[in-house]
Amino acid sequence: MYDVVVVGGGPSGATAAEDLARSGKKVAMLDRAGRIKPCGGAVPPRLIQDFNIPDSQIVARINTARMISPTQRQVDIPIENGYVGMVDREHFDEFLRIRAKQAGAHRYTGTFLRIERDEEGHPTVIFRDKISGNTQELTTKLIIGADGARSNVAKAEVPGGDKIPYVIAYHEIIEAPDAMDQYDPKRCDVIYDGAISPDFYGWVFPHGAQASVGMGTGIDGVDLKQATAALRAASGLTDCKTIRREGAPIPLRPMDRWDNGRDVVLAGDAAGVVAPSSGEGIYYAMVGGQVAATAAAACLESGRASDLQLARKLFMREHKSVFKVLGAMQNAYYRSDARRERFVSLCHDTDVQRLTFEAYMNKKLVAARPLAHIKIGIKNLAHLTGLVSKTRV
Ligand SMILES: Cc1cc2nc3c(=O)[nH]c(=O)nc-3n(C[C@H](O)[C@H](O)[C@H](O)COP(=O)(O)OP(=O)(O)OC[C@H]3O[C@@H](n4cnc5c(N)ncnc54)[C@H](O)[C@@H]3O)c2cc1C
Repeated sequence: MYDVVVVGGGPSGATAAEDLARSGKKVAMLDRAGRIKPCGGAVPPRLIQDFNIPDSQIVARINTARMISPTQRQVDIPIENGYVGMVDREHFDEFLRIRAKQAGAHRYTGTFLRIERDEEGHPTVIFRDKISGNTQELTTKLIIGADGARSNVAKAEVPGGDKIPYVIAYHEIIEAPDAMDQYDPKRCDVIYDGAISPDFYGWVFPHGAQASVGMGTGIDGVDLKQATAALRAASGLTDCKTIRREGAPIPLRPMDRWDNGRDVVLAGDAAGVVAPSSGEGIYYAMVGGQVAATAAAACLESGRASDLQLARKLFMREHKSVFKVLGAMQNAYYRSDARRERFVSLCHDTDVQRLTFEAYMNKKLVAARPLAHIKIGIKNLAHLTGLVSKTRV
């Protein structure tokens, strides 16, 4: 009988399993393996520090973010006091799973099928073992659903788990070219252009010998491959060898509930937790794994199922404000090319640069500069109402 079975061994599941094992709980981590998670792999310094990620996992260190508007206006934002790291999910996820196992988690490789409960209501996780193909059972007290976007655990167990809104993100992993005018291995490009993505954005993220080039959209009928081909052409990357083509959903909104009031709590993409505007999910998945582990440990200790609600409460206490600001930004600026143009124009402002990057790098809205906040608020309004011409900066 396990204390906790964690379904999913991505950043959220592996973190939850490691934390629980370190605190002495009997924990199993089930992952189906065999697929590299499609992901740009950009991570902030806060993640690298908080989760002790070794240098060997960081395949590129980015010191500039280039914002590109529909009219090809470019604003280079220097990343001060640190860098944005790039991880390769093929190696990063496995590193996290191995670390969880070394901490004491039992690792199972197979596909989650369903949760069954006996007459007294005790849950059992049923899965198909990857090697033998046999159906196996893990009896447990609690379950953490960390099985990613379109989570089967969320759909089956938590109200709203079948209704999470998504954008579909698609990218191509290419062989990185030599540095040139259009490509710098230390710069990530973020492309705000309705022709590439009518409601999200496109990106070029260097990964050392490789690069991720892609885009996202929640609008049906957009040809993701064609948009990415256009993005590659505009970025001078058409002739680079393509290594992989892949896509996956990115959830757009944290669910209202993350637990089933009984024995299941969700973490990461399974709970819909990805930052609006940026689609950043790795850091939030790992924090989601931590708070799910804390909630599960509290529930095991007290015997109160209501303690599972702690996961969402702890997460929201820390990150609600940043999610609100990013959500408002996405609503305001991702609607039309005119607004995207204004958004990139706004990025010229050094206060906007500092505040947005401090929020990204350190996951906090800085309160220390009230005048800058007021100035940005006024500029935001002016840009949105069109008082500032899109050619003025
Ligand atoms: C194209 C794209 C680009 C992105 N770029 C970035 C980026 O640059 N930076 C960033 O921070 N975020 C990015 N994201 C978001 C980020 O990838 C996710 O938010 C993050 O991976 C969520 O972690 P997770 O552990 O919750 O879920 P996942 O990483 O999806 O992990 C879920 C795990 O569950 C396992 N699993 C699923 N179903 C089953 C099952 N039935 N049985 C057993 N195991 C199962 C999977 O094998 C997987 O290992 C991107 C997403 C996409 C799609």
